[in-house]
Amino acid sequence: MVVSVLAVLGVIAVAVRQRPGFGRELVVMPPNVVLRSDALAGVNVVIDPGHGGTDPGAVRSGVTEASLNYRMASVLAVVVRQAGGIPWFTITSASLSTNLVEGEAEPPLTEPIDAMSREAPDVALRSGREDTQSLYRRGDYATRIQRDHGDTTVFIALHHDAADNSIKRGGIVLWESRQRTPPPLVLSLTARFTRLHLVSGRQGRHLGVLAPAHNEVTDRVLMELATISNSADRRGAMDPVWRWRVARHLAAAIAAR
Ligand SMILES: [Zn+2]
Repeated sequence: MVVSVLAVLGVIAVAVRQRPGFGRELVVMPPNVVLRSDALAGVNVVIDPGHGGTDPGAVRSGVTEASLNYRMASVLAVVVRQAGGIPWFTITSASLSTNLVEGEAEPPLTEPIDAMSREAPDVALRSGREDTQSLYRRGDYATRIQRDHGDTTVFIALHHDAADNSIKRGGIVLWESRQRTPPPLVLSLTARFTRLHLVSGRQGRHLGVLAPAHNEVTDRVLMELATISNSADRRGAMDPVWRWRVARHLAAAIAAR
C-alpha cells in the first residue's frame, strides 16, 4: 500500500514537472560540433535574415523574431567564414555584423529598423508587414550572387516561429514546393536537426523568398529555428551559447549536403 501510494505520488510529480508552463522546461542544447577550416571552401552562403524594418516578425514577451533572426544571421556569417565559405547578406542593417567573437560579450539584441534590401533599397521593409514584392527582391539578390560568383551557392533564410499555444516548440525546415523534390540542403538540414531534436521535420510550401521565378539557387531553404511562444525555446534562442552551436550545425549541414 505504502509502495503504491509512493508510486502514484511519483507519477504525479513527474506529470507536474513536465507540464508546459509549470516549472522550467529545459532548453534543447545541441552538442558542440567542430568544423574544419576548409569545410565550406569556395561556397557562397547567401544568408537571408527574416523580417526587419517596420516588420518585427513574431513578438513574444518583448522579444522580436527579427532581432533574433539578424543576430543568428551575424553569427552564421562568422561561422561560414571560419569554415572557408563566403557569407552574403540579402539585407543591409547595423544589426548585421561579421565581427562577433564567440565567448565574448555580445551587444544587446537590437531591432533592425534600418533594414534595407540590397537588391532594391527603395522598395523594401518600409511599409508595415513585409510584402511579397520585397520578399522577391531577397531571392533576386541570391540569383545575382549565383550568376556573378558561381554555381557553388546556397541560400538560407533564417526565422523563428511562434504558435497560438505555449506548448508547441522546436523549428521546422521549409522548402519551396514548386521545386519538384526537396533539394540536398533541405535533406541535410532535416536529417541533422531532427536528430538533434531541434526541428519536427520538413514541409513544402510556396514561399516568397524561395519563389522559383526569382530565386534560382537550387539549394535553398527557409529554417524556422525555434518557436519563441514556448518559454524554453525562447530562452534558447536568446542564449549566445545555443546560437553559436546551432550556427555551426547549420554550417555543418551545408558542408554535408
Ligand atoms: Zn518569420
